[in-house]
This record gives sequence, C-alpha cells and structure tokens, in this order.
Amino acid sequence: MRRGKARGAAAIGLVAFCGCAANELPRNVVLLVVDTVRADHLGLYGHERPTSPRLDEWSTRGVVFEQALATSPWTVPSFASIYTGHLPSRHGAARSAQDPGAPGVSIGRLDDGVRTLAELLFERGFATAAIVNNPFLHARGGLARGFSNYDHEPGNNWNMRRADAVVDRTLRWIDQPRDTPFLIVAHLFDPHLDYDPPEPFRGRFAGDYDGGLRYPVSDLRRIRASRVAHRPEDRRFIAGAYDEELLYIDAQIGRLLDGLEERGLLDDTLIILVSDHGEEFFDHGSFEHGHSVYQELLRVPLVIWAPRARARRVAAPVSIADVLPTILAATGAEPEPGLYGRSLWKTVLGGDPPTERVFVAENTLRGGEQKALVRWPHKLVLDVTTGATQLFDLVDDPGETRDLSAENPAVRDQLLVKLHATVEAPAHGRPAQPTEFPPDTLERLRELGYLNGGGD
Ligand SMILES: [Zn+2]
Repeated sequence: MRRGKARGAAAIGLVAFCGCAANELPRNVVLLVVDTVRADHLGLYGHERPTSPRLDEWSTRGVVFEQALATSPWTVPSFASIYTGHLPSRHGAARSAQDPGAPGVSIGRLDDGVRTLAELLFERGFATAAIVNNPFLHARGGLARGFSNYDHEPGNNWNMRRADAVVDRTLRWIDQPRDTPFLIVAHLFDPHLDYDPPEPFRGRFAGDYDGGLRYPVSDLRRIRASRVAHRPEDRRFIAGAYDEELLYIDAQIGRLLDGLEERGLLDDTLIILVSDHGEEFFDHGSFEHGHSVYQELLRVPLVIWAPRARARRVAAPVSIADVLPTILAATGAEPEPGLYGRSLWKTVLGGDPPTERVFVAENTLRGGEQKALVRWPHKLVLDVTTGATQLFDLVDDPGETRDLSAENPAVRDQLLVKLHATVEAPAHGRPAQPTEFPPDTLERLRELGYLNGGGD
C-alpha cells in the first residue's frame, strides 16, 4: 500500500505541474488463466446456478467483457493466442496434422519468430513467472519462452495441482522481495476433465442424482460416444459436477483477489482473468472441447481490473488475443506491429470499445478442421474438409440452432470471403515445427484422451 500511495502522490504532483491528464500506468501484471470455463456457466454471465459468488462480487469492480471469444476450442492454440496476440495459423502452436484418419496428431511448436508476452515484458525489466499445470503446456512447445520462472506441473486432472496450491504459490512468488515490476501467469486447471470437485463443493449441484455415474466424472470416450450419459439426468449430473468445480475455483479466485488487495496491489497492478476455451454439454450433440467452433467452446469469461479502470460491462465482442496488446498498452510499451489482437486498454479506462471487427476461431483438435468467423451478430461455421457452411445470428439465436445459409446466402458468402482473408499466414511462410514432447508427457496426454487419433 505504501508504494501505491507514494506513486499516487507523485502522479498528482505531475498533473499539477504539467497540466497533463493523470496517466499513471499499472506497474505489475497478474494474468489468471482458468482452463475450460464457458462463460455462461458463471453467475456474472447469467448462469442459473450460483457457481461464482466471489467472482460475481469482484466483477462489479472491474470491466466485464460480455462477448470474449477464444481463437480456438482447445488449450495450446488458445494459450498461444493469449501470449502472442496472433491466430493459431500464424503462431504455429496448434494441431498440425489435419488428417482425421491419421493415427495421432502433431502439435506444432510456437514459431521462433513470434514474440510472447513474457519475452516482451522480460526485455523491459519485468520479473516473469508462470505457474501452469496442463501437460500440453510443456516448455518444449515454446510457451515457456520469456518466463524466468516456469513452474509447470504436467499432472492430469486426477493427480493435478489444484487451484488452492496454485493460488498459494502465486501469492508466495509475489511476496518475494524485488525492486522490479512483475508479470505472473497463474493457471487453474481444475474445471478440465476429470470433474472431481473437492469437499465441501462436491454434491452441491449434482447431489440428488441416483443414476449410474459416480465422481470423478471421467471417461471422455464413453461419454462422447453416448454409451453413458444419454439420459437427461445423467447429463445434468455431468454438468452439475463441472459447476461444482467452478464453485471451487471461484473460492480460490476470490482468495487470490483478496490476497492482492490485502497487499495493496490493486493500486498499481493490472489483473486479467480469462479462459482458454469453454466446454460442451451436448449443446450440439457432443461433450468436452476441442471438436467444434460453436459458442459453448468459444465464449469465455474476460474480466479486467486496473487502477483508474471504469468498472462496467462491455457488450461489444472482443478476443482473447486482445490480452497481449492490452497489457502492452497498459504498461506503457510500444504496440507490437502486425497483431491480430487489439488493445482494450482505452476501453478499460472508459472509452468506446473497438468496433467493425471480425473474429476468427480455428484449429479443432479432433476430427476434421473447422473454422468460424464472427461479424457481429452473424457467425459463419466452415467445415474445411467438406466445405459445408452454417450461418447463425448470435443475437436472435445464441445457441446456434438455426442455420440461415439458405435464406441469407449473400451474408454467408461475404463472411466466407472475409474468413479466408483474415486467417493469418504462418509466421515465416512455412508450416509449424512439431513439438517433441518427452515420453512421460506424451503418456499423460494420452491419458487425458488426446493424441489417440482424431476420430472420436
Ligand atoms: Zn484448456
């Protein structure tokens, strides 16, 4: 608190002296990436269950983006977009084998020529740390670049580092004495399969179920194949167990934000909460994520807290790729040229949100490649293998149930042209290099249900 007050006094003096507007910028950055959170399962985004009481309360003090869109429906390409401000086709950290009949998939390494958030801040003297948990986030994929401290625990959801441990470590690292600004990325993996909510959250929403499923909810393949969970009560149990994981991480997010406030860091720290992708509960006939580009997988929470932010809700759509340019602008850095993402910093301070944008999602992990383009309120979904398209109106039909292609072919054609024009070329005009995961990480990815082929 002492530091924040001193800086505040200096800023007031500057205003009085030079007559310029107060332009004090945040000193530190806390980026909280919560895996697998679909926005509409949180209270602040209208969920009917009280899954996020702490975040609901904290969100009234921040800027809530109501339509934040992921660039991809799975972890690696979305994380890399958050870190670089580019689409998956350009940054390269994405599925590169797109043949659904292939025996496995190849995951590209982040292109060496693309600069990351941590690199850009490290070069400017920031202490940089990441506390991350998914085996996909192994340093060999390039996502550790720029972090002087990369604390990666590759466990699966049944032997993972839980959110309480991540929050403890995050606060401990922040408490280390230093005289430089810092960036810390904290990653909460809990809402990803398996759904294994701890006590006292277990049973809170799914407790009255007496069907055949048990905690932890796992066995992705059987559930996707509808060999289980074909009854409505089974599906309610699965979604209830997921919501219980959200209630658990909400308590931990609240503890982290309280901890930052207790340390006086709200006075000089930019805090961003975002998710990498959502989760499907049979909205379009399937389960989990990685397999489609419908909104249940693309619409994620994005909340920003900053000194001088004008707390409110912003309805205009934005992208998770906006995180990097926003952090650069907020910390006074030069903008990085040629980014797909755009800075939201002026919006955070109360300005009008960016308009006239289009948004792309791409790089499905399972099955054939699908891409989407949103030009609000219209959304085009393209199956790259077959060339089939669907057109939706996200205002009239947020669940994407009515294909408007036949009645509105002109809009569909415009969006298709725009999609091809917007997808970014690979950084150096060459395909991504495969990530050489070590054998134990490959095994964990197989256990998670990945890398076993794209067919299911
Ligand atoms: Zn993920």
